Amino acid sequence: MKTPIYLDYQATTPVDPRVFEAMSPYFTEVFGNAASRSHAYGWNAEQAVDIARETCGKLIGASGKEIVFTSGSTEAINLAIKGAVDMYGSKGKHIVTSLAEHKAVLDTCKHLEKQGCEVTYLKPDGTGRHSAEQVAAAIREDTILVAIMWANNEIGTINPVAEIGKVCKERGVLFFCDGTQAAGKIPVDVQEAGIDLMCVSAHKLYGPKGVGFLYVRRKNPRVRLVAQMDGGGHERGMRSGTLNVPGIVGLGVACKFAMQDLDKDMAHSIGLRERFEKRVFAALDHVYINGDKDHRLPGCSNLSFAYVEGESLVMGISDLAVSSGSACTSASLEPSHVLQSMDVGDELAHSSIRFGFGRFTNEEEVDFAADQVIDAVRKLRELSPLYEMVQEGIDLSTIDWAGH
Ligand code: PLP
Repeated sequence: MKTPIYLDYQATTPVDPRVFEAMSPYFTEVFGNAASRSHAYGWNAEQAVDIARETCGKLIGASGKEIVFTSGSTEAINLAIKGAVDMYGSKGKHIVTSLAEHKAVLDTCKHLEKQGCEVTYLKPDGTGRHSAEQVAAAIREDTILVAIMWANNEIGTINPVAEIGKVCKERGVLFFCDGTQAAGKIPVDVQEAGIDLMCVSAHKLYGPKGVGFLYVRRKNPRVRLVAQMDGGGHERGMRSGTLNVPGIVGLGVACKFAMQDLDKDMAHSIGLRERFEKRVFAALDHVYINGDKDHRLPGCSNLSFAYVEGESLVMGISDLAVSSGSACTSASLEPSHVLQSMDVGDELAHSSIRFGFGRFTNEEEVDFAADQVIDAVRKLRELSPLYEMVQEGIDLSTIDWAGH
């Protein structure tokens, strides 16, 4: 077994060899610029992009015409939110979002606040979920956009998007949904969910990094955005810049396999997650699942281990490539903003680890990972006076900690 074992599928996924193979000719043979109209190099590249566009649409229940290729979800999020505010700002400047969104959404909203927008940051419940009623209560006369993610990247919690979409439609507000973690992992249909704008990123679904798309609804209602990039008017004027043809081909093929293998992939990831949690919970007490047990991404297990120090735990499981909180923020020692928003205490937030399983994870790796976690937690708890007190039956909540 090759270590460290990769268990960070929410941070990124390896490119599927079938995707890699499909991309390869587009670097060397079919290398034309998809915008070149006067020769076969251009036409062939454009044809490949068109096929990918249709496939991307199909994955999410949209048409190819509703797909705008970008460099990934971060760019798509910026285009969706800023582009909608620029287009519809005269109707109102209020946005509703969640404290548990990805930084790409939160920082875009922060930026817009500086430009005069007002943003309501909804607090999720203890499992990281939002109800449609909560969203409805936050919508005002001047609300133009609701931005709530389909599935959370840190804890895997899945929101009731169809209910939220219904509320948005009833109130005439645009619904932007960050579908980065959901697309290709669970069934996603923008029609059923009433979504107007949604981002998807190739590197989360076994495609290459640096490419993704924004879905922009064309009917009921037709959504218009102000471009955030000036240039040659590519992507129907919504995103200028020469298209990344090999990347887009890779994204399209990744979407094709995601559709084809969805049931198999889901069953595989759920099976691994259950196997892992069963083994960990059978061996250790005081372990908590962060997230919603009934509405969770198949391959995501975010666990907190009480009475161990987070950094020491990460060091103790160095044969595992996992993430403590979001990969994008794990450089800082701040407890995860997602866990904080759910009122997970600082101690438990610091000792939280996200284990991510996917298409190429196998049972042997999962068993090895569970055993390494069990071993590390046991060793650290042997050094913990608090854990010793708990074992002796002392109720820690009755202790007066002042002065300790
Ligand atoms: N949104 C979510 C939920 C994510 O998990 C990520 C990736 O970390 C992003 C947005 C950003 O995606 P990208 O890496 O394509 O910019």
